Amino acid sequence: MTFDPATLAGRLAAVRAGIDAACLQAAREPTEVTLLPVSKTFDAATVREAITLGLRRFGENKVQEIQAKALELADEAPSWVVIGHLQTNKAKVVAKLASEVQSLDRLDLAVALDKALQAEGRGLDVLVQVKTSREDTKFGLDPTALPGFLRQLTAFSSLRVRGLMTLAEASDDERVVRGCFRHLYQLRDTALQAGFPLPRLSMGMSGDYVHAIAEGSTEVRIGSAIFGARNYKPSQV
Ligand SMILES: *Cc1c(COP(=O)(O)O)cnc(C)c1O
Repeated sequence: MTFDPATLAGRLAAVRAGIDAACLQAAREPTEVTLLPVSKTFDAATVREAITLGLRRFGENKVQEIQAKALELADEAPSWVVIGHLQTNKAKVVAKLASEVQSLDRLDLAVALDKALQAEGRGLDVLVQVKTSREDTKFGLDPTALPGFLRQLTAFSSLRVRGLMTLAEASDDERVVRGCFRHLYQLRDTALQAGFPLPRLSMGMSGDYVHAIAEGSTEVRIGSAIFGARNYKPSQV
């Protein structure tokens, strides 16, 4: 089958087919892998078009951008998933607007989010972002700190810890990329043995999702392959 790369519908269909093919290759069921479309930098009109194609959840890395789009798309009320570095002073807005946070990587953020959520009277699904790459630029918890952090998180009744998230190293070497994803999978196994069931593994982006699925990803975060090229350098992510 061919897909029109000039349209959002065509690119979305191509990504869905790519996920299915990667699952087949990895002897996994396509239903095991969720697609999180990443709409950061794309405007509300584009998100609205994506909604007409059946998408209801969108990954964003800036809280201000969620605020603006949530306002413009109030009639549709899609779910907003925070996937970027989060400052504690944004916790109140996140507690109001986000359906989920995948970038929980430190205790002071957990404290701030829990407090804001208590005030809102709601709970929030969270994933712990772990740093599996050797790059200094990426945020995320040091893997050795994960067991202790998971224990600390049990104190926050409004945070429902559902899994782990990572970004692989930006490398052309498939073994390096897969190594990052495998590391996250193993960390989840270790956590499971310690009594923390973490069903979700958010790993894989436009350029590396096939490898992530091969290594056990349950959720791929796809931006440019669906929405097109973004107007800024990856270093600003
Ligand atoms: C931007 C971003 C993505 C999507 O990246 P693409 O390469 O455009 O698919 C995924 N995860 C995080 C954390 C991001 O910031």
